[in-house]
Amino acid sequence: MNDLPNFFAVLGVIFVIAVIVLIILIIITSILLYTIIKKKKIIRPRTTLFLVDTLYFPLKRLFVSLNLDESVVDQIEINIRNKILGEEYFSSNLKNRIVVFPYCLRSTECKAKVSPEVGVNCIKCGKCKIGEFKEICDQNSIKVFVAPGGSFVKRVLKKHPASSVLLVACHVELNEMMRILSTKKIPEYGVLLTKTGCIETDVDMDLVKEILFEVR
Ligand code: SF4
Repeated sequence: MNDLPNFFAVLGVIFVIAVIVLIILIIITSILLYTIIKKKKIIRPRTTLFLVDTLYFPLKRLFVSLNLDESVVDQIEINIRNKILGEEYFSSNLKNRIVVFPYCLRSTECKAKVSPEVGVNCIKCGKCKIGEFKEICDQNSIKVFVAPGGSFVKRVLKKHPASSVLLVACHVELNEMMRILSTKKIPEYGVLLTKTGCIETDVDMDLVKEILFEVR
């Protein structure tokens, strides 16, 4: 009979300890993030990435409640993954690289057909930046995909398992895709859109080209 209050007392202590540990981890991670933002230097990238990944949602809430730009959390994770996985990406064979653009980069007048297997079948109409880029990639036998959704990348990689991937997307999508690919140990590099939103977004195509063709 007396065991029940003891059980709740232990549960209460465990809960308080868990909250204290969580607060300490959030403080440590916030200090690491602050150092990255202020000094533009990533210290202990793997530890920082682990902490930010683990505390992703509490950190985002904290940024929002402090009226700070919560996309910084994603941008930092993307930068760290680029740093950690970039070497493998840049040393990969050019012919094994694939590029994945987001659906929203297309023109609203895009007439290309969409299929679950190949995504947007770009006909290089010239109404958006993808067409010209695809032409250059076609000449170099590099595959370009325009993804109708996040899960599309996983499907593409099932068909092309030896690939290294250059991803272009907004901060949330890019971070999410890079997180999924990094668990599968796929060499990857991410480039953020310069203009976000759901339609007619934009990216620095010169930067995308530079990263696509760079071999170290
Ligand atoms: S270039 Fe390709 S993706 Fe862009 S609007 Fe034309 S068909 Fe669509």
